Amino acid sequence: MVEGDAGPEPLRVPGSRWARIAVVLLVAVVVPSALVGLVVVRSPEFSRLDEPAHSDYLRRIEQGEIDGIGALDQILIEELTLRENRRVKTALLMARLTAIKTLQGFDFAFQPSLDRNRVLALAELKFIDRAEVVHLLGPPGTGKSHLATALAVEAVKAGHSVVFSTLADLIASLAKAERDGTLHERIRYLSRASLLVVDEIGYLPVVPGGGNLFFQLVNARYEKSAMILTSNRGFAEWGEVFGDPVVATALLDRLLHHAVVIQIEGASYRLRQHADLVPEHVRSKALIAPPPAPRRRGRPPGKTTTDHDNG
Ligand code: ADP
Ligand code: MG
Repeated sequence: MVEGDAGPEPLRVPGSRWARIAVVLLVAVVVPSALVGLVVVRSPEFSRLDEPAHSDYLRRIEQGEIDGIGALDQILIEELTLRENRRVKTALLMARLTAIKTLQGFDFAFQPSLDRNRVLALAELKFIDRAEVVHLLGPPGTGKSHLATALAVEAVKAGHSVVFSTLADLIASLAKAERDGTLHERIRYLSRASLLVVDEIGYLPVVPGGGNLFFQLVNARYEKSAMILTSNRGFAEWGEVFGDPVVATALLDRLLHHAVVIQIEGASYRLRQHADLVPEHVRSKALIAPPPAPRRRGRPPGKTTTDHDNG
């Protein structure tokens, strides 16, 4: 038995080597399990974690590199990190995010028209608490879906419930629910998410009646929960996009009332290595028209901000 005789004393357990190992196991396994409420049934992750790690912790305790409390600390941190990762992973799956993108992975230098600080401010997620609508507008390949996904990932990490869908898929799911007689439940379910991301507005023509279904969802969420919408079309074109100017006006009325509009005017990241092969009319994109100021009857004026009025 080696007893330390200089420097800070690691936790020493008297008795035989086996007695020490038993006490160390108790500290390293049962105590953390108890602390996370798992004395009897331990999580599979923890079992996976502690098998290789145990022998390492035991070896380090044996060698005096770490004391029992230090080992306990580290095992607890690993367990909590693992649980947090599992929660985020499950929530990302639930959100139906097709690809994981991050703000760290976004090259702001490639899109000089985009105000980095504005995007980083959105990542603080106050817009979710304020039930605002964030519009990301711009030509294809300018990073709208990337940014929408990255903000959704931030929201999931912060514990918000998120649903991500393209407009076409969302309308298809609403149309199916209507056929099945479950539209009310479907809208209720989609209204519960604190953030709904609707990607690709304007890419595909909306099926007849689709605008109406989307309006019902937007109306259910209006002033209650946040949305991020991405589109390659200006608001003036929404009548055409939804195949119905009346529905488009009603949609815009709600979606621009408490809104943040971010317009990206740049080149496609997808085509960056082939810019010389791309025709000029595809490379230089016309500005998407800024939103018309919505007129609300009997309501105080809303706070709609755009890149233009924010600089
Ligand atoms: P959009 O939705 O505007 O058509 P995407 O967000 O889908 O464009 O971007 C197309 C591809 O290029 C994606 O793989 C995305 O991650 C990548 N991308 C776009 N812009 C950037 C950028 N500025 N920095 C890094 N990757 C980018
Ligand atoms: Mg996209």
